[in-house]
Amino acid sequence: AHVLVCAGTGCTASDSQATREALIQELANRGLDREIKVIETGCFGFCRFGPNMMVYPEGVFYCTVRPEDIPELVEEHFIKGRVLERLLYKQPETEVPVSSFEEIPFFKHQLRIALRNCGVINPESIEEYIARDGYLALAKVLTEMKPIEVIEVIKKSGLRGRGGGGFPTGLKWEFAYRAPGPVKYIICNADEGDPGAFMDRSILEGDPHAVLEGMAIAGYAIGANQGYVYVRAEYPIAVQRLKIAISQAREKGLLGKNLFNSGFDFDIDIRLGAGAFVCGEETALIASIEGRRGEPRPRPPFPAISGLWGKPTVINNVETFANIPTIIRNGWEWFASIGTEKSKGTKVFALAGKIKNNGLVEVPMGTTLGTVIYDIGGGIPGGKKFKAAQTGGPSGGCIPAEHLNVPIDYESLTALGTIMGSGGLIVLDEDTCMVDLAKFFLDFVKDESCGKCTPCRIGTTRMLEILDRITKGQGQEGDIELLIELGQRIKDTALCGLGQTAPNPVLSTIRYFREEYEAHIRDKR
Ligand code: SF4
Repeated sequence: AHVLVCAGTGCTASDSQATREALIQELANRGLDREIKVIETGCFGFCRFGPNMMVYPEGVFYCTVRPEDIPELVEEHFIKGRVLERLLYKQPETEVPVSSFEEIPFFKHQLRIALRNCGVINPESIEEYIARDGYLALAKVLTEMKPIEVIEVIKKSGLRGRGGGGFPTGLKWEFAYRAPGPVKYIICNADEGDPGAFMDRSILEGDPHAVLEGMAIAGYAIGANQGYVYVRAEYPIAVQRLKIAISQAREKGLLGKNLFNSGFDFDIDIRLGAGAFVCGEETALIASIEGRRGEPRPRPPFPAISGLWGKPTVINNVETFANIPTIIRNGWEWFASIGTEKSKGTKVFALAGKIKNNGLVEVPMGTTLGTVIYDIGGGIPGGKKFKAAQTGGPSGGCIPAEHLNVPIDYESLTALGTIMGSGGLIVLDEDTCMVDLAKFFLDFVKDESCGKCTPCRIGTTRMLEILDRITKGQGQEGDIELLIELGQRIKDTALCGLGQTAPNPVLSTIRYFREEYEAHIRDKR
């Protein structure tokens, strides 16, 4: 038997380490440690019910397992062969316990591609990744395909950048492929900085080899021999697992020289970021890797033409790379059959805020917001009403209750005045003040503005001053119009994506919840 114990950051915070150690000890005390293997995995996604544990071959999923539960669990499950019901997930209304994780509504509506190995394999074992067809896609492209054929597959799959912009991945690769020059680079953007977002962290913690394999395939496609993962230093578990994965891949000859005897060399190094939000912007990220201050520069030239050290560079985020091996293995037709007309595949979301099942979910594009919030997320706690969901973090906007049926894809969210973003999804209930919410995000971007250009540096400060006085009951007539005008000017004139999207939470909350701004000003509260 195998017992998988979640060792993602969420379950680690609820002390899954102590649970795991108690289990190992108890199994040893009972003489069961030879036949039952305890394995640490990445995030199952069901963080609200951590520490999570899965027992194979039965496939029984236990929730909220504390060290003090272990003696009874071992006695019941492993000695007497009975499922310990009190540690199973209970259906919300009926309280009926569910032992198989596929039957839990949280998992039932999901389709896991980027997260397919998270919670399933030991992320520190390359053998387990290989056993799940890992590095098969790299072998396939190196032995059977020309670089341009790889690019064609990615283009036809319809994969778009999961970091927020939604730019077609294959097209970006083609630009870099066609750019002249013998030296090119691949960068994985793991500088996840949106408040409430932890998609990239969980993928790196749960399945680091998928990202490395995706980067190596991209390297082959565009003709790059070196890749960098730019990851924030605040993600120590992710960094550690990446380091282990890179050294294992090098040992197995899956990174380094002459991969699969193809004559293709590719290696990957890690660069640690210090946590500046602006370094998620690709030109600032490049500056940071080059050892300069992390400030954006005007584009064009785009990094695909002139990026790291002036060389053609493909930058994709963690989730984008994690999709690549599966697309190559299963074919572009399979991937393109999932999702909507213009948004293919799945999207990972970090569910946070006023929601029962906060955690990590992956759903086909086109799934409605209502399905994510109610069927997967379990709805709003405390019998409160859903008010809105904030997508795209500080660059995004809110979606009010009347749009719960909106299918989640790039176009639909843009039409509602928000963005897909990298996958942060913060749920707000009837008690949330939307002006406070807008102020929170604006305060965040004002602090994170690099200060290079005036509209962003001064404009966000002025907007925050106005919001501050409105929320203190000192708002003045005309403040709302001033916020809209300032916001639009900043959007039109700021240099980089951070500034260009900084006013979005304010503009979006004014669009849908203007009466809350007016009430603050009118009632002086
Ligand atoms: Fe810096 Fe803001 Fe200008 Fe971007 S928009 S370059 S973050 S000041």
